[in-house]
Order: sequence, then C-alpha cells, then structure tokens
Amino acid sequence: MSMEMPSEINPVGQSAVRILWQDGHESVYENVYLREHCQCAECIHEWTGEKLISRDRIPPDIRPVSVTAVGNYAVSIRFSDGHGTGVYSYDLLRKICPCSRCQPVAK
Ligand SMILES: [Zn+2]
Ligand SMILES: [Zn+2]
Repeated sequence: MSMEMPSEINPVGQSAVRILWQDGHESVYENVYLREHCQCAECIHEWTGEKLISRDRIPPDIRPVSVTAVGNYAVSIRFSDGHGTGVYSYDLLRKICPCSRCQPVAK
C-alpha cells in the first residue's frame, strides 16, 4: 500500500485547513473537524479506541496555531485551545478527508 503525501498544507481563512496531495487530490478540513479527530491519548482511549472528546466541547472558533512536520509521515498540530499533543499521520488525514469522493456515505 503506498502512502499519499501532501504537497501543500495551508490554512483557508480562519476556519479550515486545506491539503493538496501529491496525487492531485484536495482535502479541506474544518478546524473543529480536525480537532475532533485528534488521535492522542487525551482524545482517544488507547485500548478501546473510544472517543474522549466531544464536538460540543471544542471551541467553535478553534484554529491551528502551528503545524509541524513529524518525520515524513505526519504533522503535529497545536490548536488555539492549548491542545498540542495531536499527531496526524498523512494516512489518517487522507482517510478522514471529508470530500464526497472519500466519504460517499454520509453518516
Ligand atoms: Zn488530542
Ligand atoms: Zn477526498
């Protein structure tokens, strides 16, 4: 399985982050959506995979204050609510791409 790599990661205004992938795919993630998908031990239970963060506890005006590459497989995102332990692998980011091609079935 080949891993897709981003070629660009840019904020879109104050509310979202856009990733342009090397295969030409484009993903736009709302900041709240990104924060909600944090995979760190504070946000996801290590063993059960249960989500420990709920969307209504995320400030609606949340935004990333820094995005740092981690090796060549992930980015670390620090958010304006002070949460900075989240590491988002490119694999995960591609998997949670909210576009209609990646998520054809709306939940
Ligand atoms: Zn987290
Ligand atoms: Zn997509």
